[in-house]
Amino acid sequence: MNEARVLLVTGGSRGIGAEIALGAAVAGWSVAVNYASDAQAADAVVRRIEAGGGKAFAVKADIAAEGAIMDMFAEIDRRHGRLDGLVNNAGVVDVKARVDEMSLARIERMMRINVIGTILCAREAVKRMSTRHGGKGGSIVNISSVASVLGSAGEYVDYAASKGAVDTFTVGLAREVAEEGIRVNAVRPGTIDTEIHASGGQPDRVERVSGSIPMKREGKASEIAAAVLWFLSEQASYATGSILTVSGGR
Ligand code: NAP
Repeated sequence: MNEARVLLVTGGSRGIGAEIALGAAVAGWSVAVNYASDAQAADAVVRRIEAGGGKAFAVKADIAAEGAIMDMFAEIDRRHGRLDGLVNNAGVVDVKARVDEMSLARIERMMRINVIGTILCAREAVKRMSTRHGGKGGSIVNISSVASVLGSAGEYVDYAASKGAVDTFTVGLAREVAEEGIRVNAVRPGTIDTEIHASGGQPDRVERVSGSIPMKREGKASEIAAAVLWFLSEQASYATGSILTVSGGR
C-alpha cells in the first residue's frame, strides 16, 4: 500500500485543477488526476508530477455520471487503499444566455456536473475519510465561483446558481462531518485565465472583463491553487465551513 496521503482532484487535467494537482504533489500528496475526455492533458500533468519526483495517476470519469464516479473511487481504493483529500474542481459553464432562453438540457447538464457531481464525489470521500466509517479524517475543498455572489446576469445565471449550491453544500457538509475528522471548505475564484471561457463561447472574456476587476487584471490558476493548498494543509486545521473569495477584489 502507498503510504503518501492520497488526494483526488476532479478536473485535474487542465486549468485550475492542473495547478492544484501539481502544487499538491510538491506538498507531498499522491494525486489522482481526474479528467472527462482529454487523456493527453491528464497524462501530461501526471508526467510533470513524476518528473518532479512526485506520485500521480490519471483517472477518467465523467462527473455527470454516478457509475463513472463509483468506478473512479473504486480505482483509487484498488491502487492506494486510502483517501485523504478531495478537491471538487470539475465544473463547466455554457454559452452566454438569458434565463428565458435556456433549455432544460442546458440547465440539467450544468447542475449535473457542478452540483450533483460535487455532492456525489463528496459522499464517496466521506465514506472513506470519516471516523464514523472507520476512516482517519481528511479535507475536502470545493471550487465555487465569485459568480455565486454576483449572479452572472445576462451571462449564465444557471452557472451562478450552481455555484451558490456549492457554497451552501460546503457549509452544511462541514457542520455535518466536523466531529468526524473532515474539514470542508471552498474557494471562490474570480476571473481566471483558463480555457473555460472559450468553452463557453467567449475566448476573449478574460481580456474583456479584466478592466472591471478592482486589481485590473485576471487571476492565474496558480493563485487559486495556493488558496486550495492552504485549505488542504494542516495550517488550516481550524478552518471548516469557510469560503474564501480569491478574485482581485471583485
Ligand atoms: P477548464 O480550464 O475548462 O478545465 C476544466 C477541467 O474540468 C478539465 O480538466 C476537464 O477535463 C474537467 N471536466 C470538465 N467537465 C468534466 C466532467 N463532466 N467530468 C470530469 N471532469 C470534467 O476550467 P477551469 O477554469 O480550470 O475551472 C475549474 C473550476 O473553477 C470549475 O469548477 C469552474 O467553475 C471554477 N471557476 C473557474 C473560473 C475561471 O475564471 N476560470 C472562475 C470561477 C470558478 P477534460 O478536459 O477531460 O474535459
